[in-house]
Amino acid sequence: MSTDIGIDLGTSSIIAYVKGKGIVLREPSVVSVDKTKNEIIAYGKEAKRMIGKTPKHIQTIMPLSEGVISDFTLATKMLKHFIKKACSNRFIQPRIMICVPSQISEVERRAVIDASLQSGAKRVYLIEEPVAAAIGAGVDISKPSGNLIIDIGGGTTDIAVISIGNSVVNTTIKVAGDKFDEAIIKYIKKKYKTIIGKNEAEELKKKIGSVYPKDEDETAMIFGSDIDSGLPNSIEIKSSELIRILLPEVMKIIDALKFVLEKTPPELVEDISEKGIYVTGGGSLIYGLDKVIENNTGIKVMVAQDAVSCVAIGTGKALENINKFDAQRRKAN
Ligand code: ADP
Ligand code: MG
Repeated sequence: MSTDIGIDLGTSSIIAYVKGKGIVLREPSVVSVDKTKNEIIAYGKEAKRMIGKTPKHIQTIMPLSEGVISDFTLATKMLKHFIKKACSNRFIQPRIMICVPSQISEVERRAVIDASLQSGAKRVYLIEEPVAAAIGAGVDISKPSGNLIIDIGGGTTDIAVISIGNSVVNTTIKVAGDKFDEAIIKYIKKKYKTIIGKNEAEELKKKIGSVYPKDEDETAMIFGSDIDSGLPNSIEIKSSELIRILLPEVMKIIDALKFVLEKTPPELVEDISEKGIYVTGGGSLIYGLDKVIENNTGIKVMVAQDAVSCVAIGTGKALENINKFDAQRRKAN
């Protein structure tokens, strides 16, 4: 029996989609390594919970950075572990469609293929991430018409104009969800003289992070340690005060978007202004992002329905289309 799996191997998370089953796996792209034994002791969610809390001989590592594999051995082991899990631990050699950033070197591309093959894949297909994101968001990219996709992940934001299934103009910037967290950590340290961890900053962002005023301001408690005394400290943070911190980061994304629009042929810009801009990726869930982009471009913005899983769904769907294509070819022969 063979299984087809669409995989979004992201910097922050790895998500797998199987036809007929939907999303079967959603885990952080993190592993914990015991340095003394040189072996992985935890994967995904379990490993992420260890960040900032491990003794010296245990290290939590993210084997991908800025969308590409940065630690081949660990990335392969992690992928193997999760592919097995996605196949419900049965011994199957799946066909895998896996996404890669648009701007990727041949060496980086090869690393993804080799890691997938060594993880037990029978065949590996690659797809450009924004193309997968568009398919996952339900955008028809087959026509000669411009579609603009912004995918905001953890490490990178990819912006692409797609027509007839391919990206025509694209750019990648290293401003995405992680930079939002870093900005929060820096702010809390400066304003409240309190040190907070990465996971705490991310939780705060998800809870009340915002780049546009809400009808009613929200608050959340954050726990950290006092910079001078080292003692535990709790502070109440308002959603409105995070706007000032997060908006400058989002403006960098908007500058990149304007750059892409400038480079896009006017015919495609016209299509985009009619259809609007699609936003995908976990980073796009920050409150008010759509309104800020709209206000700065005059183009309407749609946040994809399942923004976090869009790319994985798109890779899975693209694999189904390869099946159709293969079947048609077989029929033709
Ligand atoms: P990648 O493609 O890099 O693996 P994802 O698309 O999974 O990344 O997005 C990860 C980023 O999305 C992280 O920075 C995470 O904190 C952020 N994120 C996830 N959910 C939310 C949310 N509800 N609000 C704001 N940010 C979020
Ligand atoms: Mg992604």
